[in-house]
Amino acid sequence: MLRIAIQAKGRLNEETMALLTDAGIRVVAGKRKLMTQAIGFPMEVLYLRDDDIPQAVYMGVADVGIVGLNEVAEKELPVVEEMRLGFGICRISLAVPREVDYSGAVWFEGRRVATSYPHILQNFFKANGVNAEIHEIAGSVEIAPLVGMADGIFDIVSSGGTLVQNGLREVEQVFRSEAVLIATAGLDDDKRRELEKLKFRFRSIIDSKGLKYVLMNLPKNRLDEAIALLPGMRSPTILPLAEEDWCSLHVVINEHELWEKIERLKVVGAEGILVLPLENMIR
Ligand code: ATP
Ligand code: MG
Repeated sequence: MLRIAIQAKGRLNEETMALLTDAGIRVVAGKRKLMTQAIGFPMEVLYLRDDDIPQAVYMGVADVGIVGLNEVAEKELPVVEEMRLGFGICRISLAVPREVDYSGAVWFEGRRVATSYPHILQNFFKANGVNAEIHEIAGSVEIAPLVGMADGIFDIVSSGGTLVQNGLREVEQVFRSEAVLIATAGLDDDKRRELEKLKFRFRSIIDSKGLKYVLMNLPKNRLDEAIALLPGMRSPTILPLAEEDWCSLHVVINEHELWEKIERLKVVGAEGILVLPLENMIR
């Protein structure tokens, strides 16, 4: 049986739980329990702090884990990145006090930078030939320059609001992160098979994000024009209607092109267009 490590609480927890639920895997989250048995998939769920997940997976305490790529990169442990999950998107950036006249990465030469990600930062400085003093601190990194502990910081940014509030300015976007599914290297065949089943479920959920199921009525003689507007569909579903010259066309359209497609379908005579949410598309 597969054992998965997920963040017990924090920014990744909610979307991780939602992904499991969408994949038909129920976990009755006993808040104080470190481990629970899942329902709907043969799996145990281990709740950890995100920092500990790469290590737990590396050691095989858990076979797989869901964690930010930032933590995986920082820990520099040889685990296998199985799949990007598309949530928990953020970046790790260098920031300096607003008033600094920033001249590029060389500005950091000989300066002190506070961070919770010393390894990722060290790699960046090395690649840029910069010698800086890296001070590892666990939290509240953004106040370090204010209290004179550092000249700059290297920290997670999503909107940038926290930086601005602390009089800081983002100057280098160094690392892009999102939640990933990782696995212990060299899982045995049984576990690998179960992991592939899990990945199949995750993949179809991720691929279905943003898809809409669209139904419309269309004059039969405009069908070819309508189909030409819908590239990529191997074969849209076409159903007869009571009225002989009309048919019903069913297609799947991505959210980001939905309105543009609908406008063009209306031009070729589509009527009574229904847009429905699509829960899952198994390819
Ligand atoms: P833990 O108690 O598990 O150690 P934490 O306080 O270290 O949690 P969180 O703030 O919950 O960490 O963030 C967990 C992960 O979520 C980060 O490592 C990162 O991958 C991602 N993340 C962090 N901040 C953001 C953000 N603002 N937007 C999106 N994702 C983020
Ligand atoms: Mg943490």
